[in-house]
Amino acid sequence: MADCIFCRIARHEVPSSVVYEDEHVIAFMDIMPAKKGHLLVVPKAHYGALFDVPAPLLAKTAAVLQRCARGVRRGLTAEGLNVLQSNGSAAGQVVDHVHFHIIPRRLGDGLRLDWDHETYAPNEMASFAAKIKEGCEAERSDA
Ligand code: AMP
Ligand code: ZN
Repeated sequence: MADCIFCRIARHEVPSSVVYEDEHVIAFMDIMPAKKGHLLVVPKAHYGALFDVPAPLLAKTAAVLQRCARGVRRGLTAEGLNVLQSNGSAAGQVVDHVHFHIIPRRLGDGLRLDWDHETYAPNEMASFAAKIKEGCEAERSDA
């Protein structure tokens, strides 16, 4: 897409700090890191969200994601890391080109990803599970 910032990065039309690149996937430093070393792993083709990515490309992206996660662990001697991925503005997605965050972590680093958990009423979890199961069955896999 012409105006998409991640498409433009993938085409090297705007500067970015690339740490890995192949024909299908690019990984570059996030310019507003949650923690220093925060990386984005992005399929080069424009797909808005996880729902839209063809499974073979998603598999390629996942392989790069794992390699970059190992690279962050080794290169930064990270004690841990989070992989985050947001779909839709309700979930906090800002850039409308599917991407995976890799955020290096250290014990006690103060990054807040904690949430107060909700509590199910009796049988409510089973009802949610049934609806999701139905949803999954109605979706076909394109793997
Ligand atoms: P999300 O909220 O999941 O859509 O995350 C978008 C991420 O893209 C944010 O963490 C931004 O800091 C990052 N970002 C936006 N523009 C750029 C850019 N030009 N280069 C690198 N990272 C960017
Ligand atoms: Zn794009």
